[in-house]
Amino acid sequence: MMDQICKRELCTGCGMCTLVCPKQCIILQQNSEGFLYPEIHVEQCIDCKKCKRMCPANRAIDTVPYKKVYAAWSKNSKTKQNSSSGGIFFELAQYVLKQSGFVCGAVLDMPQLELYHLVSDQIKDIERMRGSKYFQSNSVHAYKMVKEKLIAGCLVLYSGTGCQIAGLLRYLEGIDQTNLITVDVLCHGVTSRKVVQKYLQTFPKNDMLVDLIFRNKDLGYGGVCIKRTYADGTCEYGKSREDLFMLAFNHNLCLRNSCYHCAYAGPERIADITIADFWGLGEIKPFPEKQDGGTSLLLTNTQKGEHIVEQIKNCLYLYERTYQEARRKNRCLVKPSKYNKNRVHFFSLLDQENFESLVRRFVPQNTTLIKLKSFSQILMLKLRRKFARLWYRE
Ligand SMILES: Cc1cc2nc3c(=O)[nH]c(=O)nc-3n(C[C@H](O)[C@H](O)[C@H](O)COP(=O)(O)OP(=O)(O)OC[C@H]3O[C@@H](n4cnc5c(N)ncnc54)[C@H](O)[C@@H]3O)c2cc1C
Ligand code: SF4
Ligand code: SF4
Ligand code: SF4
Repeated sequence: MMDQICKRELCTGCGMCTLVCPKQCIILQQNSEGFLYPEIHVEQCIDCKKCKRMCPANRAIDTVPYKKVYAAWSKNSKTKQNSSSGGIFFELAQYVLKQSGFVCGAVLDMPQLELYHLVSDQIKDIERMRGSKYFQSNSVHAYKMVKEKLIAGCLVLYSGTGCQIAGLLRYLEGIDQTNLITVDVLCHGVTSRKVVQKYLQTFPKNDMLVDLIFRNKDLGYGGVCIKRTYADGTCEYGKSREDLFMLAFNHNLCLRNSCYHCAYAGPERIADITIADFWGLGEIKPFPEKQDGGTSLLLTNTQKGEHIVEQIKNCLYLYERTYQEARRKNRCLVKPSKYNKNRVHFFSLLDQENFESLVRRFVPQNTTLIKLKSFSQILMLKLRRKFARLWYRE
């Protein structure tokens, strides 16, 4: 009987296999690192190998080269303020709602810290989908809902990571996908719910936590800033260069194993549209507009993607740019995240050691040397932008 569907290090946890098994004998189980992996109840398995045949990690989904590259952001400042970068997702979602369609995206239930994909045509749900949540969302139930809506002839926008879209597309094989719009968030990796729990436990008021936002802009935009809100009305912020979770996440210390082999990194894209942050904008060719509050990178990858962007372009500031510029500061437009050699050690100690000392052990400290490095990086960025302006003026 089968006990493994694909190579364990390639399993993305998309959960699609649990839906296609004719005996329904696959369940997603959390492993010791806190990531979801499929487990087969071998006594019920009839060895039909359907799960193996369908799994996107065994048989890749077709990808397509990107078509156009834009720097973009919403004209609505409130939308931008409440989104991770330029608010492109929210503009796309509003367009779909206006067409009486449904939107599927990740919502976070607090204080339970449950992250899952929801399908909805209600604006209050779409508002909850906004914003990046940096751990893995469970999309299994949503896959079923998306299929039902498409069979009923509804327009559906599905937004998620590349591997979630792969699971969805495989699950929908044989179904008419004319009414499906896919949007992938350019993703360098996800961590597990357990890692986020361990991080939150380091804060004295953790029991009173009522809300968690991974990308908050109260203190401005210029990097990632986590906001924790408590029942007594107080809140705390963690900036990416100091926050323990962001240090571990950005140093690739706590990503899912499949993320280091991600099949959805690079210029070949899986979705109609790709959305990301446009880090490095203006460093090669000057960018004339003032950037504040978040600038998105928007890639159109299919004709459908181009058509949808055409429909919402009046709601956006939209500037065509080059892939060369876009990939400069976004490694996942070139290749998957680099494996951190301390990853195994980190997870082996996660249950034993305090999260703070664990992160400090494996992530270089904020020493004078690091401060100097980050200062010189900012200086270089400013110089590059200035140089680009001078170069293009001549
Ligand atoms: C795990 C993760 C890693 C990322 N890594 C990068 C990166 O390395 N470089 C980069 O430029 N951008 C990255 N992004 C994308 C970036 O953070 C923004 O989401 C993107 O710029 C879109 O911003 P927005 O303002 O248009 O939309 P937002 O309001 O941010 O909405 C984005 C969409 O993301 C979806 N989403 C949120 N969390 C998850 C999740 N856990 N799983 C699946 N879907 C989710 C929501 O459903 C929503 O539809 C990442 C996003 C995620 C979720
Ligand atoms: S279908 Fe998804 S969850 Fe199942 S084995 Fe393949 S990658 Fe893993
Ligand atoms: S081989 Fe068939 S019955 Fe067994 S787990 Fe896979 S899909 Fe289910
Ligand atoms: S990096 Fe790749 S495998 Fe990991 S969550 Fe993102 S899309 Fe999926």
